[in-house]
Amino acid sequence: MSGANSAAGEPFSGEPGPGGSSSGGGSSGGGSSGEPSSDLAGSGEPSSREPSSGEPSSGEPGSWDPGSAAPASTQPGSTQPGSARPASTQPGSVGELADLLRSTSGTLVPVGAGTKTGWAAPATSCDLLLRTSALDRITEYAPGDLVVVAEAGVPLAALQRQLAAHGQMLALDPPEEGATLGGVVAANASGPRRLRYGTVRDLLIGVTVVLADGTVARSGGKVVKNVAGYDLGKLHTGAHGGLGVIASTTWRLHPLPPAAATVTARLDGSARAGRLAALVARSTLTPTALELCWRRGASATTGELVALFESIPASVHDQATRCAELLAGEAGGLAVEVGDAPPAWFGARPTGPLVLRLAFAPAALPHVLDALPPGASGTASAAVGVAYAAVPAATDLAALRAAVAPYDGSAVVLAADPALRPALDHWGPPGDAFTLMTRVKDRFDPARRLSPGRLLGGL
Ligand SMILES: Cc1cc2nc3c(=O)[nH]c(=O)nc-3n(C[C@H](O)[C@H](O)[C@H](O)COP(=O)(O)OP(=O)(O)OC[C@H]3O[C@@H](n4cnc5c(N)ncnc54)[C@H](O)[C@@H]3O)c2cc1C
Repeated sequence: MSGANSAAGEPFSGEPGPGGSSSGGGSSGGGSSGEPSSDLAGSGEPSSREPSSGEPSSGEPGSWDPGSAAPASTQPGSTQPGSARPASTQPGSVGELADLLRSTSGTLVPVGAGTKTGWAAPATSCDLLLRTSALDRITEYAPGDLVVVAEAGVPLAALQRQLAAHGQMLALDPPEEGATLGGVVAANASGPRRLRYGTVRDLLIGVTVVLADGTVARSGGKVVKNVAGYDLGKLHTGAHGGLGVIASTTWRLHPLPPAAATVTARLDGSARAGRLAALVARSTLTPTALELCWRRGASATTGELVALFESIPASVHDQATRCAELLAGEAGGLAVEVGDAPPAWFGARPTGPLVLRLAFAPAALPHVLDALPPGASGTASAAVGVAYAAVPAATDLAALRAAVAPYDGSAVVLAADPALRPALDHWGPPGDAFTLMTRVKDRFDPARRLSPGRLLGGL
């Protein structure tokens, strides 16, 4: 067996993310910005800590990207009117967070580790950065139940380390190093293993959220099946803090898979990428991930496709062998290799002046790749219908959106240089659901004080 290194070398300009070389399941990879303050793993006992004042304090924005929020206040209740740097505060408990929202009236933007502050549209107003770094406790973990409760500021990587000690994982693998649970939920961030395990909405079974008026709302619980009440967690997933501040999260866990194998196929065009991905997706094989790394050249798209299998050793060996045989029959003589770890690009997001997230019907993968301009490159979860693309800064977004629309496709700006952001149409056309989204926003945040402007249509 030989390791499967990228045929395309470094196919996009960015460094592979820290999760890129992960061979274990569900790791966000790399280091984290800190351990949770609690070492309660397995104890099942909640921790306690002295509350902090909860008063807004002038703080260093740290990793906050000033280009991602317009801090000049346009709202009453500003803590620093017109300031280039908004004040920040770190509530240390759900109660403090609720008090803060009850006792202030300005605009707030929650910040976890600041790893995705460039995602979503820039906030139109930010009087106060609400940092979740002091909400950093794993409050309940009973390994036998495969459920964990952790506060929003707990870094995903730190949680994974605690769970791994018990042979378990949270099966989410977004690559952003240091990402907090709250940020992962609010940005609906996922990685390659979503094919097998689903995304945030599938794994989040409970949430505690503080609403704009200070109301503490809880939904879900510690059982995997939950039929009572509204599933608030699904609503707040992907809402970028625009509907409430996530304070605590309850997750369904999985056992860490004991073995892994990869099958890598080199590609000579988008059509072959589509055919190979469809072959695996329609087979009886059960890959954990099916990832494509691609570069759009002047005449063709090249790259490689990797199927990742994670299970017990016998199953992994059997599936990888069958997958390699299946792909070899369709690979047109191009190399198909079996390895034991994903390549460096696996799970990374591309970087560049303009990075897009495309979502589309999975069968449309070749059409979507062909719609991208020459020079574009990135990764794609081939069987899911999601691609991350670094495209030239001058890309005509409206034309690209029109080209992918027939495939149930959308293209949102994932990240862009601060100089480009003000002129970008971040989300694209609002679509039919906008009226409903506006009503949801009106209900949860009528004064428009939470992450204003971050969502579709300036919500
Ligand atoms: C008020 C509000 C406003 C929001 N506004 C926006 C917005 O404007 N734009 C936005 O992107 N998000 C918006 N969000 C966030 C949004 O809810 C989602 O979190 C985010 O867009 C990701 O969507 P998703 O969960 O459908 O994506 P994913 O689950 O990642 O799915 C991506 C897409 O892949 C395709 N796909 C996946 N599997 C299949 C399959 N088996 N067969 C066929 N196709 C498949 C589908 O097209 C699917 O929509 C908003 C959230 C709120 C609360």
